[in-house]
Amino acid sequence: MRTARLVGLGLTALKSNFTQLSRPYKLTFSITYGCQSRCMTCNIWQIKPKGELQLGEVQEFAKRNPYFRWIEITGGEPFLRSDIVGIVKAFKDYSKGLYIVTIPTNSLSNHDMLINRITQILDTGIPRLSITLSLDGYRELHDKVRGVPGNFDKVMDMYGRLKELRKKYPGLFVVFGYTMSKLNQGMFEKTYEAVRQLYPEVTYNNFHLNVAQVSDSYYQNGELDIRPERDALAREVESVVRKRRFEAGAIPIIESAFLKKLVDYIKTGNTPVKSRSLDASLFMDSYGNVYPSIMWGRVIGNVRSSDFDLMPIWKNAEAEEVRRLIREGKEPDSWTACEAYQSLVGSIGSLL
Ligand code: SF4
Repeated sequence: MRTARLVGLGLTALKSNFTQLSRPYKLTFSITYGCQSRCMTCNIWQIKPKGELQLGEVQEFAKRNPYFRWIEITGGEPFLRSDIVGIVKAFKDYSKGLYIVTIPTNSLSNHDMLINRITQILDTGIPRLSITLSLDGYRELHDKVRGVPGNFDKVMDMYGRLKELRKKYPGLFVVFGYTMSKLNQGMFEKTYEAVRQLYPEVTYNNFHLNVAQVSDSYYQNGELDIRPERDALAREVESVVRKRRFEAGAIPIIESAFLKKLVDYIKTGNTPVKSRSLDASLFMDSYGNVYPSIMWGRVIGNVRSSDFDLMPIWKNAEAEEVRRLIREGKEPDSWTACEAYQSLVGSIGSLL
């Protein structure tokens, strides 16, 4: 089953090189805007969400749209939803080709509870579950950027527990998600060494790097002074790219291409590879609003208004207008993992 689903995802991604897909294969889904972090780079934690999709509504959405092969769950802090297992299970049960689910966490919730929920998610039988542990610095820096004393130690404890869990579940993958901003610029190496003091087996490949994005929609952080100095940041990322070791497999190869293109994005500010928004993928927020991508706050519809069927929204006039803008290169520039992977595999030459 695992191999068949991986092949299914690969073939669909390959197909997107040659034709407009009739329906998306990747969903990025913010299941809650609740968050107990106090990040200096993001204002989501200030939102007090009300009226978010209930589990029954998510189940109906999963049932009516059973074609997703890749679900990227995000937040807020996704594990604050006590029904996160039910949410993932709904997609697993209805999307017969689902291969991968990715979930980030700030590691701030009770760790017994987190491990319990992650274990239950793994027990649904998902072939691949990737957990990203947010880590933006060494101990003092991470706690400052994230606004919560003791957070670094919690991330380290969580990594150790997941490392143990992986012995039982080889489909579990764990990476550190390092978000670069003005606040931690030039500090990656020091962070890397701080992690290796506790876990000497960790390599550069265990880190996923991204640049803090500024957006008045998703992050609601337009007024924050977090933009790093471009040339210095590009050099920092280039240094990491050089130190990563080659790893076989589709996902490590795509991650490597993502990082190389990240350098281009940092230097130019331009999206480095043609977007696949509203072709391969979409973003849905916790209220059911559908957007082309996580960074483009243009709502094309709400699944509560379409009986949770995505297709009427996918084909509506607003979606067509957005596709026209994308074809004309008028999509706002960005390079986030939420969108970049499907852009890279949909432009296969960019992986070479
Ligand atoms: S960056 Fe993530 S953890 Fe930090 S406030 Fe925003 S949603 Fe919460």
